[in-house]
Amino acid sequence: PKNAAPDIATLAHDLHAGSRAALARAITLVESRRADHQAAARELVQALLPQTGKAIRVGITGSPGVGKSTTIDALGMYLIEQDHKVAVLAVDPSSARTGGSILGDKTRMARLSHHEHAFIRPSPSSGTLGGVAAKTREAMLLCEAAGFDVVLVETVGIGQSETAVCDMTDFFLALMLPGGGDELQGIKKGLVELADMIAINKADGDNVKRANITAADYRGALHLLSPRSEHWHPPVVTYSAMAGAGIAELWQKVLDHRKAMIASGEFAARRRDQQVKWMWTMLEQRLMARLRTDPSIRAKVRKLETDVAEGRVAPALAAERLAEMLA
Ligand code: GDP
Repeated sequence: PKNAAPDIATLAHDLHAGSRAALARAITLVESRRADHQAAARELVQALLPQTGKAIRVGITGSPGVGKSTTIDALGMYLIEQDHKVAVLAVDPSSARTGGSILGDKTRMARLSHHEHAFIRPSPSSGTLGGVAAKTREAMLLCEAAGFDVVLVETVGIGQSETAVCDMTDFFLALMLPGGGDELQGIKKGLVELADMIAINKADGDNVKRANITAADYRGALHLLSPRSEHWHPPVVTYSAMAGAGIAELWQKVLDHRKAMIASGEFAARRRDQQVKWMWTMLEQRLMARLRTDPSIRAKVRKLETDVAEGRVAPALAAERLAEMLA
């Protein structure tokens, strides 16, 4: 049949051998909504699981215009020079509404997109943030199995997308602009509490002085927060993605962090917690999907909803009946 689920053993083999076509097909399978494709995708990820987990996973966030694509292009090229293979993925929940994601768009990363040691994939557009994040996380595992040893996951700070990306990466990098008034960008959103490093981009030309002042402001602000780890105090650095200045230093911080986290045992703990949290998120999504899509259950859900709204059935009892239906 058309779009039949492919032979998983062959796909897993080709992907692990480094075939980009196989990798792209595998990600398409993961992103598909069809039940048979999803079953095949689960089997594929399970088969490749021993080949996953070895990449350095870095989340990168920042408002539009801060220089995410310029940074990823420069950082990616630097990493390739260091013999890394770099995958770029994106979590963009707005892409579900607009029908296309600007994040991870190849045209935004001019040099990287043409390099054979790079793989760039735009954000899936599958509805909820949970759905988008789920598919990106599976795509990350597939990239690792295909031999990409650095995975950069890009997001704009919409809603909870930063938390979602933080939950799938080892290091979370927040990009900021120099200046920008009295209020430090991101402080309010709690972003700074997630960040393992704050990097002020565009520290070039007339901006250098302002970038340094902004960096000092952030350092001051970070002092007031309790750090996420007693073994890592998030540094604040300045750099210029356009000039390529400070990119090597920026990466060195990622490596320093990794070393400190591995030594303290936090690295393994964070990965373990992420995996378990991941399982629960998937389970929640599946249960909610059944409540919404199974026609017989849906009718009963609606009836119970009305009964609860009109005070005939207590919410606790309704929840109990719904839970029984899912069993
Ligand atoms: P994104 O929306 O976060 O992906 O931002 P882009 O990477 O597309 O950059 C937005 C604009 O900022 C573009 O016009 C870039 O050329 C410019 N830009 C990016 N990095 C730098 C930098 O280091 N210095 C300067 N002066 N401009 C930059």
